[in-house]
Amino acid sequence: MEIKELKWERRLVWDVVSDEEKSRIFEFADDYKKFLSANKTEREVVETFVSELKAHGFRDISEGGDKVFMVNRGKALAAVAFGEKPLSEGVRIIASHIDVPRIDMKPVPLYEDTGIAMMDTHYYGGIKKFHWVARPLAIHGVVVKEDGRVVKVVFGESPDEPVLTIEDLLPHLARKAQYGKKIEEAIPGEKLNLIVGSIPLPDKEMKDRVKLAILKLLNDKYGIVEEDFISAEIEIVPAGPARDVGFDSSMVGGYGHDDRICAYTSLRAVLDVQNPKWTVIALFFDKEEIGSDGNTGAQSHFVEYVIAKLFELQGKGDYFKVVDALNHSEAISADVNAALDPDWKEVHEAKNAAKLGYGLPVTKYTGRGGKYTANDAHAEFVAKIRRIFNQAGVVWQPAELGKVDEGGGGTVAKYLAKFGMDVIDAGPALLSMHSPFEIASKADLWMAYKGYKAFFEAE
Ligand code: MN
Ligand code: MN
Repeated sequence: MEIKELKWERRLVWDVVSDEEKSRIFEFADDYKKFLSANKTEREVVETFVSELKAHGFRDISEGGDKVFMVNRGKALAAVAFGEKPLSEGVRIIASHIDVPRIDMKPVPLYEDTGIAMMDTHYYGGIKKFHWVARPLAIHGVVVKEDGRVVKVVFGESPDEPVLTIEDLLPHLARKAQYGKKIEEAIPGEKLNLIVGSIPLPDKEMKDRVKLAILKLLNDKYGIVEEDFISAEIEIVPAGPARDVGFDSSMVGGYGHDDRICAYTSLRAVLDVQNPKWTVIALFFDKEEIGSDGNTGAQSHFVEYVIAKLFELQGKGDYFKVVDALNHSEAISADVNAALDPDWKEVHEAKNAAKLGYGLPVTKYTGRGGKYTANDAHAEFVAKIRRIFNQAGVVWQPAELGKVDEGGGGTVAKYLAKFGMDVIDAGPALLSMHSPFEIASKADLWMAYKGYKAFFEAE
């Protein structure tokens, strides 16, 4: 062994790939950009994925077949390709989440103040509130009528359509109201109100005539009345498409990389998987950003239910078999990590931080402080992942989220680990994570796809 071979170093994807692979990276990123621009809620992602799955020969689990999918209440999804080995020997899972931090509309949103029609909101997940003021916003969601009819609403996306917005205080008058405060207190959640109109109905005797004018517009356009907002899920999101970033177009900037970059790449992996040894399952969860609770989140028993259904398809479901299969399974918790931030290096420990463009980050443990709440992947399983990625030519890198004691986080890994399976985190590193314009490297996007596919195709 040569002395320099003793050393390990991160590899920059652009230094390693051939010209042919480089052009595939850019093509793949173009498809991803279109997906990210068009899918801004968990429901929209599920709908898009289901039509992709159908186009690739997957069928609803009730119809059977060797490629099936199962939708959980329009907000979570499992896509399954059966492998050679029996289910009871375990499956290979890649789990991502398709919900994204955002601002939701309250059940009673609409009011008028100072002649302006406004909508009251309640934010969802970890946002920095100052990111959301004074910028063009769109709404995506559903209004469910009392009779069960679902009215889909998307407003503010097409270039010839108006947008909505949340205003901010002018700097001239912000000295006491904002500048003296802590940054998280400068914009309280109750001041995140959406501006939605300002022309009143002509009858000056009428009370709330700006609000009523908006209700009339909404009734004409969508056939809804004020009470319908009570049974609506309307998400306020940044308006407009994802964009290339950089003079060299090497990055994608957009809303929702966390975690749709992992969802998209793992979907593509399950669509493209060839002759899997093991049965492979791409899981797409909801509610990760608020703790994975609820019946569409990773803390639900959805994964157990999916495995039970797969056994049922083969006519041999019993509870022990399901538990056995889960216990023998292996999983990648596919979620994003933080890229070493050039402007805020002090929050990272550079040796162990993921670097943008240096491939797919593999995160042995997440958590905070003394590894609290972490799923710490066993060294044996980490070694296996190294082997799989190295053999498949995946450029990857080890990663920790931030300096020890700096903060931290975690995702769905620990909820999968409860079933006894081996789980490791792996997902691209982002800059501006949880902002309306997150940044990902096209090189890392590609390596995520390549890594997930290699995991699905491994021995
Ligand atoms: Mn995430
Ligand atoms: Mn997140």
